[in-house]
Amino acid sequence: MRIRENVSLRQYNTFGINVAARYFAAFNNTDELSARLEENPRIHKIIIGGGSNILFTKDVDGMVLKNEMMGIEVLKEDNDYVYVRAAAGENWHGFVQYCIQRNWGGIENLSLIPGCVGAAPMQNIGAYGVELQEVFEGLTAFHIRDMKMQHFGPSDCAFGYRDSVFKKEYRNRFIILDVTFRLLKKPVFHTSYGAIRQELEKMGVKELSVQAVSRAVINIRRSKLPDPAVIGNAGSFFKNPEITVEQFQTLEKLYPEMPHYPVKKYPSSADNDSGRVKIAAGWLIEQCGWKGFRNGDAGVHVSQALVLVNYGKAKGSDIYRLSEEIVQSVQKKFGIILDREVNIL
Ligand SMILES: Cc1cc2nc3c(=O)[nH]c(=O)nc-3n(C[C@H](O)[C@H](O)[C@H](O)COP(=O)(O)OP(=O)(O)OC[C@H]3O[C@@H](n4cnc5c(N)ncnc54)[C@H](O)[C@@H]3O)c2cc1C
Repeated sequence: MRIRENVSLRQYNTFGINVAARYFAAFNNTDELSARLEENPRIHKIIIGGGSNILFTKDVDGMVLKNEMMGIEVLKEDNDYVYVRAAAGENWHGFVQYCIQRNWGGIENLSLIPGCVGAAPMQNIGAYGVELQEVFEGLTAFHIRDMKMQHFGPSDCAFGYRDSVFKKEYRNRFIILDVTFRLLKKPVFHTSYGAIRQELEKMGVKELSVQAVSRAVINIRRSKLPDPAVIGNAGSFFKNPEITVEQFQTLEKLYPEMPHYPVKKYPSSADNDSGRVKIAAGWLIEQCGWKGFRNGDAGVHVSQALVLVNYGKAKGSDIYRLSEEIVQSVQKKFGIILDREVNIL
């Protein structure tokens, strides 16, 4: 695949930010990737998938590498599990649908999350009470400088809430090539989170199935989240902050209606004795009066305060500046410092 120069990245990020990459190349296999890396050893590299968790704040003075490696393969199965490997360039929701059609359980609650398989472990994607780490078996990644493949098991990834080793010390050092999932042959359903149960009732579902739960999640997401094809965004811009029980008790006296959840080791487990409390970042932002705010083409979504939007021609720096103002006002009112979920580039 040839290298292109001065390429607009507008179509490669769901915020629709119009910055340029000095060099841009897509790769379909490891030979192509090795060739691109060998030809350009000194140029800074940024790897992207679907661009749905990135805010570009400036032109990229380097090479953007888009992972387009495809393929889904069953590695092995036993009575309880099927182990499936998906290449990093596979569309995440397409992969979820592939598994649902075969009645494999574990990722149905993660339906309709935009982006590619390769970025999913990067931020340990999560939704509706389930996180990727709960079905993660391992991944293969390519070390950019050493040009070597490396295997990562669950304990190598340091998964946390929207976090992993690839978001921290290994950022831009490894390219994830494929991810292996351990999926359930006899699915266990997680329907207590959000409005899943009500949606299933509304749909008239009598018997739970991975297909039904996935459809319920899709319906809820479509009704709540702005579609990037209609308005530029990257989903939740901030993480829901975690605070200590003591901090929470002080705040609760002032704001008894503040939405909060116990922090669990794994979202779908019963073990919730972490001593920390999660607060809804969207509520904090809304209380500071930001919901529906617009300055030029940068804004806060009219019905989802956690989602920052580009109405058309906003620059990444406009959106970033707005996010900075939000962080400061939430800190001033609640003493909580919001952390960005979106990768700022
Ligand atoms: C409307 C909307 C709703 C969303 N809802 C959710 C949600 O419910 N839960 C959730 O967790 N997220 C959600 N997201 C965020 C986003 O979809 C996920 O983070 C997704 O996994 C990003 O995938 P991507 O391929 O688009 O990654 P990109 O945006 O392309 O990249 C994200 C980061 O991962 C790195 N990266 C990408 N591919 C690789 C690779 N192969 N190897 C190494 N690093 C790589 C990039 O350098 C970048 O730092 C939502 C986004 C949108 C727009």
